[in-house]
Amino acid sequence: MGVKAVYPGSFDPVTNGHLDLMQRASVLFDEVVVAVLKNPGKNGAFPLSQRVSLLQEATRGLPRVRVDSFAGLLVDYASQVGARVIVRGLRAVSDFEYEFQMALMNRRLSAEIETVYLMPAEQYTYLSSGLVKEVASLGGCVDGLVPACVARALREFRGKEEKS
Ligand code: ADP
Repeated sequence: MGVKAVYPGSFDPVTNGHLDLMQRASVLFDEVVVAVLKNPGKNGAFPLSQRVSLLQEATRGLPRVRVDSFAGLLVDYASQVGARVIVRGLRAVSDFEYEFQMALMNRRLSAEIETVYLMPAEQYTYLSSGLVKEVASLGGCVDGLVPACVARALREFRGKEEKS
């Protein structure tokens, strides 16, 4: 039986930093379930269905990656899909404190599930979905930072924002 991992996040929208991590995770694990969090209290810039479809398009070349969405406790979702590992990314020390808290809380909630941290390639260490959205909304170029489908979606998003 292979080892399955869950890579949870908002992916609002997916960036090349996320994809770099998925590539690294698919070398280590037999299946990587990229799980978009349905957060009723927080409306993303992109609706959940679009975040999922952008992820599906962007991960077409990664056969071990499957895209899904989930609500509720991450550890419950992980056991539901049979994953023993949670994958998260560490870009800089600033990610550490929050990630450390989450990892220890998840361990308390479910001792069998281990959180594994991966570091992206250096050129993605300053990259976040939030910064990409901000740059794109001001008309800056995000080529090379996001997959082509996301660059297109960001242009459409900007067009809509300008009209409203
Ligand atoms: P969340 O809202 O859960 O932080 P994100 O979609 O922003 O969701 O990120 C999901 C995971 O991917 C987090 O572990 C985050 O640290 C990681 N991540 C985000 N951007 C990058 C990047 N550029 N390189 C590596 N990891 C990243």
